[in-house]
Amino acid sequence: MKKRKMILAYHSVGAHPIKEIGAKLYAVPLYRFREQMEYAANKETGPLPSTSLGAGGDSPIITFDDGDITNYLNAYPILKELDLKAYFFIIGTWVGTPGYMSWKEIEELKNNSMTIGSHGMTHRILTELSDEELNYELRESKKVLESHLKTQVDYFSIPRGLCNEKIIDKARDVGYKTILTSDNRIVVRSGWDLNHFIKVLENGYSLSDMVENMIKNSLRGILGIKNYDRLRSALLSKS
Ligand SMILES: [Zn+2]
Repeated sequence: MKKRKMILAYHSVGAHPIKEIGAKLYAVPLYRFREQMEYAANKETGPLPSTSLGAGGDSPIITFDDGDITNYLNAYPILKELDLKAYFFIIGTWVGTPGYMSWKEIEELKNNSMTIGSHGMTHRILTELSDEELNYELRESKKVLESHLKTQVDYFSIPRGLCNEKIIDKARDVGYKTILTSDNRIVVRSGWDLNHFIKVLENGYSLSDMVENMIKNSLRGILGIKNYDRLRSALLSKS
């Protein structure tokens, strides 16, 4: 049986981003990122998938959300050194703001075999938006990226992973070929050592990761995303 291809999602590498709530859970230390990428680089590589992120060889697919400046400063040099390709999902209105990559930096990634995708215009939760607002997040972000980078943007990563069928359909209508959610990606946590990372790559999330995700998702459902965020930042600021 062919093994399921793992799509890894990173946020910041080697430092904390500014805006994302609870970001330190996902701020992967530089030495950990390097060992993970060295592991990935030694896996059998296949052709870079064109329409589906799920095709290709045995190497995991590497993605980054939010356009954090550490993607450019810390992750990109390691990817280049190891000859790895990756996907970067950019938030239209965050480009060039403190802590986030500029158009020039994003363009450099694009010119060096990296793929740029959209992560919306404002990082708002798509399930809470009106049709008009949803349209803005999906369509405008594609347009802005395409006009700055002069390339077609085929990939969309859902902010915070929260979506429904309507959003997926709408994203397809707008022209995205692949839509990434939290269901089809493994979000790498800051605390994972190489052993844990390899286990997740081979078998998916561990039981404790899944329990954590389940609690997170059901709390979100019970509390609603705004209250959940408030609770999460209150808890995190104490730790
Ligand atoms: Zn995000």
